[in-house]
Amino acid sequence: MMRPLSVFRQGSHCFFLLNCMDTDKAFSLPSDPILGIETSCDETAAAVLGADGKVLASVVASQHAVHERFGGVVPELASRVHIEMIERVVMAAMEEAAVSWQSLAGIAVTQGPGLAGALIVGVNYAKTLSYMLGIPLVGVSHLEAHIASAWLEEPEFPLPCIVLVVSGGHTHLYRRDGQGVSHLLGCTRDDAAGEAFDKGAQMLGLGFPGGPALDRLAQVGNHTAIPFPKSFFKKDSLEFSFSGLKTALLYKVQAMTEQELARGRADLAAGYQEAIVRVLVEKALLAGRQTGISALAVVGGVSANTRLRTLLEEHARASGLRLSIPALRFCTDNAAMVAAAGRQALATGSRMAIDAEPFTTLGQPGHNCPERALTKETAHS
Ligand code: ADP
Ligand code: MG
Repeated sequence: MMRPLSVFRQGSHCFFLLNCMDTDKAFSLPSDPILGIETSCDETAAAVLGADGKVLASVVASQHAVHERFGGVVPELASRVHIEMIERVVMAAMEEAAVSWQSLAGIAVTQGPGLAGALIVGVNYAKTLSYMLGIPLVGVSHLEAHIASAWLEEPEFPLPCIVLVVSGGHTHLYRRDGQGVSHLLGCTRDDAAGEAFDKGAQMLGLGFPGGPALDRLAQVGNHTAIPFPKSFFKKDSLEFSFSGLKTALLYKVQAMTEQELARGRADLAAGYQEAIVRVLVEKALLAGRQTGISALAVVGGVSANTRLRTLLEEHARASGLRLSIPALRFCTDNAAMVAAAGRQALATGSRMAIDAEPFTTLGQPGHNCPERALTKETAHS
């Protein structure tokens, strides 16, 4: 197996690059595998999708241990760890997938939104690799990648559908009309749902990242014991807000003694989680009713939440709603979803011509969420 990045490090890369170039290689989908690379935040990830779109390998190196003591992601540290990890992670994915470099149809890499330094590591690694192998490279929106995760294990999931993206940076509701074509229906005016989980967990002394820890603690708490405000805005609104809820938790924690907090922590976690999750479910279902669409995909790190999954599955069973929630390993950041979005983009002829775009987004939070088409250009360029 060729190990191109080892050669890159020896300093003789110009000569080697020219020897490795295969500019005549015909691009063909879906008959060849795709390599996906993700470095937008604090996960270094690589994955290979087979010709049929099935996941052959998905490797994720999480940096949680590096950032934990700071209570959040430190961008400069994230970039450095991506540099250390990226080659190992890509090699591990290629070995696990047992495909040759020459058989790759193309490479997909997260282009934005994300941390600038972190994105640059993945984008430049992917560019070098694609140049050396003489295969196409496509830059993928991180949001498009999360959305694509809904089809990873359910390729027959119908369109149009409603998509709820809930992660550390986004709480966005879309109507998805075709692959690569989304219309923003609503988003958060302040914190993202994942941010609300992380900040709530911090107030409860649960460490970082807090979402999974709060989820676990809430499972042994009573969500009706301590009431929390649920922010729905107007009856028909598809916008979200979690800042008032966060303040409510802060006041409750400040009003409790150490002993009360020790006894009530699980109930606080359960009540707080319930207020986030109920609003997410209500708004997603409202979007379905407003558009007359009865298929819902829920993606992003928060879609791993146990209570959210349970409520959505119960509702889907009772109402006949078509529901797609990715398997847990594809909810939080991973590269299989990047490869899946890239596969779509490559099939439509998209190619990467520019660099990392840390501030790209599919709709501006806090600005009444104007409906905006997500075209192929905004999604994949
Ligand atoms: P990003 O926001 O960088 O795209 P992810 O899509 O991986 O990252 O989402 C990370 C967010 O998901 C974090 O805020 C994390 O706390 C949250 N999260 C992960 N698992 C859970 C869970 N089980 N319950 C609630 N939140 C979760
Ligand atoms: Mg993400």
